[in-house]
Amino acid sequence: KAAQGPAGFKQNEYTKIHHVIGVISGKGGVGKSFVCGSLAVELARSGARVGILDADITGPSIPKMLGLAGERATAVNDILVPATTKGGIEVMSANLVLENETDPIVWRGPVIAGALRQFFEECAWGELDYLLVDMPPGTGDVPLTVFQSLPIEGVVVVSSPQDLVQMVVGKAFNMASMMSVPVLGLVENMAYVTCPHCGEKIWPYGPSHLAQTADEYGIDALGELPIDPALAAACDHGTLEDELPQGFLPKAVDAIVSTCE
Ligand code: ADP
Repeated sequence: KAAQGPAGFKQNEYTKIHHVIGVISGKGGVGKSFVCGSLAVELARSGARVGILDADITGPSIPKMLGLAGERATAVNDILVPATTKGGIEVMSANLVLENETDPIVWRGPVIAGALRQFFEECAWGELDYLLVDMPPGTGDVPLTVFQSLPIEGVVVVSSPQDLVQMVVGKAFNMASMMSVPVLGLVENMAYVTCPHCGEKIWPYGPSHLAQTADEYGIDALGELPIDPALAAACDHGTLEDELPQGFLPKAVDAIVSTCE
């Protein structure tokens, strides 16, 4: 039954995944899930077949931002069936299999690894051009275990403005290097605010250090993203697919598409 999957991994007969790309951050709260969800929305809009494996198992926020709060993944003959957003993005998350979305997950590393491997191998994803993995934040035991549990081909690093100057990006970069996973580039989230009256960009944390930090590690700068209250609300209301402006993170989308060509 096992179809040919990436080396060391199985793919079931209902699944054909062409590329697996991770989204990582040196610490939590920088908007990693938001960037992962936005990348999926843009790739799907461009006509690609996209899935998200939510591996941020202790803080799974992908289902909610994509309007799947309250949805359940089903299982048919031990094969999980992901939930699908109205824009056609396939999503698998611990939140979709918990009895209660507010149940805490107290699994240890090996159990998390097993669950995520199951989400990859025993889930009917269909044919996907891209499976994006929302990785657990940080560089500790859990993200390392997740790296070993999934066939990640490359990662996009998400950072806050402060992290760019505080070695946090370096830790994420080094973790990917340790795992021999190429870094596609660096996105700076919440870098500026646009004045609703005159459109001027205000940089609350000072001028961006994105280009400089990307240079330091020899990786591509994939753009600065604004703090946008409308998008924060869209994440809360599950309407990111509708509300995300066209061409929100074009460089990051291009980096994924060109790496996978
Ligand atoms: P992480 O995955 O890094 O822990 P999240 O992506 O869950 O962080 O983001 C944390 C919160 O910040 C979420 O409520 C999200 O909607 C909000 N957020 C993230 N990036 C932005 C942004 N650029 N503009 C507005 N809100 C944002």
